[in-house]
Amino acid sequence: MGLLDGKTVLVAGVTMDSSIGFAVAKVAQEEGARVLISNFGRALSITKRIAKRLPEEPPVLDLDVTNQEHLDGLADALRAEGVERLDGVVHSIAYGNPETLLGGKFLDGPWDDVSQAVQVSAYSLKSLAMATRPLLGSGSSIVGLTFDATIAWPAYDWMGVAKAALESTSRYLARDLGPDGIRCNLVSAGPLKTLAAKAIPGFEELDEGWGTRAPLGWDNTDQGPTAKAVCALISDFFPATTGEIVHVDGGYHSLGA
Ligand code: NAP
Repeated sequence: MGLLDGKTVLVAGVTMDSSIGFAVAKVAQEEGARVLISNFGRALSITKRIAKRLPEEPPVLDLDVTNQEHLDGLADALRAEGVERLDGVVHSIAYGNPETLLGGKFLDGPWDDVSQAVQVSAYSLKSLAMATRPLLGSGSSIVGLTFDATIAWPAYDWMGVAKAALESTSRYLARDLGPDGIRCNLVSAGPLKTLAAKAIPGFEELDEGWGTRAPLGWDNTDQGPTAKAVCALISDFFPATTGEIVHVDGGYHSLGA
């Protein structure tokens, strides 16, 4: 018996096998789910290669969350794969221009780049929810990934602002989709050495000391605990939880300075 037996899950945002989305897809398959993954643009061919490393090779969809045509066609693209209902939708997507928005650029970050970061990293949670809405029903669960936006971090700068928008977007989705029995939650992960993290100038500053200070310790190369939490939130074991942020950070967030 797997936690996700009989469930179908879309994981959006898988590029490498270091991607949190990849770990989510792996755990979801191990727990019995049928999984589809997505990425966009030039990286799609990489994703197709990486998909073969999962226990079962999943269909790979082309989905740029800023492309309205992609969003409008997503439900049909899923139906073409034989999907009539989605039990889980995982938003594992973020982008902020590292040249202009991250690594100590907060006071100079230009609006065009900030608006792109907010669209890709926060507004897209709403876009993805609405694009998959025809396939969601009572018991379906949307889960996104955040990096605790309640405080200002070194180097994270405008991505922190985008994450604050994501966290708020999740709460409003929870409010508006809750009456239909659809949940929306986030997992707030500690720093993990993924492609996105490596692109942050000053990621080491964020990461520094996490492993020694976190009460449970923290392995920044292990996406497993984060993936398990995402799968738990998709499962039937959180039937009355929505608008929530579950920290998977070794307990770091619970400490004072
Ligand atoms: P990742 O492997 O780089 O995943 C980010 C994904 O977003 C990539 O697949 C990327 O595709 C995709 N993406 C970017 N723009 C997109 C668009 N317009 N449409 C569709 N997909 C797009 O890095 P990750 O660390 O696993 O990130 C996954 C999520 O976890 C993000 O929300 C991130 O902020 C969050 N998170 C990460 C950490 C950490 O320390 N790594 C901690 C907490 C939360 P391309 O590679 O093709 O650009």
